[in-house]
Amino acid sequence: MLLKDKVAVITGAASPRGIGKQIARLFASQGAKVIILDLNADDAKAAALEIGSEHLGLACNVTNKEDCENAIKIAAEKYGRIDILVNNAGITQPIKFLDIKPENYNAVMDVSLRGMLYASQAVVPYMQENKSGSIINMSSVSAQRGGGIFGGSHYSAAKAGMLGLGKAMARELGMHNIRVNAICPGLIQTDITGDKLTDEMKEEILKGIPLNRLGVTDDIAKACLFLGSELSEYMTGCSIDVNGGMHMY
Ligand code: NAD
Repeated sequence: MLLKDKVAVITGAASPRGIGKQIARLFASQGAKVIILDLNADDAKAAALEIGSEHLGLACNVTNKEDCENAIKIAAEKYGRIDILVNNAGITQPIKFLDIKPENYNAVMDVSLRGMLYASQAVVPYMQENKSGSIINMSSVSAQRGGGIFGGSHYSAAKAGMLGLGKAMARELGMHNIRVNAICPGLIQTDITGDKLTDEMKEEILKGIPLNRLGVTDDIAKACLFLGSELSEYMTGCSIDVNGGMHMY
């Protein structure tokens, strides 16, 4: 059990085929109590209940600072501590550079980047109290290679911003034994692309993946488990590529 008695908050984890939900399942199987945050209260509750009655599902729009503070307060009061935060909530849009409207920019930047800021600000005081914590930020290969897979350039910017914000947090929070790391997934089969990712697009993408398959949510959950557990206790400010070799540097 790598996460025995740990308490983990995962944002954007109610999507049935999503990365966050799989992280929640794996964390729970390793002994953690899991708090699932997502936009819709019923979805979040149902997702938590599916994993087990000892877990909690709460409504939280991560772009809203008050939502984040309220949800984290409820979680901390119930479980007494917060050990791990996974900033997983994110949205994408396949829009060309010149077509990005102010509302597109705001929506995509806000969920990934502002959401990471607000959720992290809400958990850090609890982690400081325990002199321990692990924050994991779900970036993307899109941050490193400038998109070119599905999301537009505003998505690349949001995901690259998460890497910068995460490193700055790692520097500032290390003295409290709070570690901050990122994961950069390649293309993972979830519902984030809606029905806009065609079979032809998938085939084209596969040609650039040495491991010759698209990723599955468990590929990301396993990396997350490593970063959340003491296996990575001397790692901070890092990002782990989980992309089948699609991008190497
Ligand atoms: P998904 O669409 O299945 O899940 C995203 C979840 O975030 C949904 O449950 C949604 O309701 C929630 N969400 C959206 N806006 C929110 C908000 N304001 N507050 C709280 N929750 C919100 O997507 P996924 O593929 O599981 O993606 C999870 C993360 O991984 C995202 O950050 C995404 O950018 C990143 N990522 C995904 C891929 C991929 O190929 N699937 C690749 C790289 C990075």
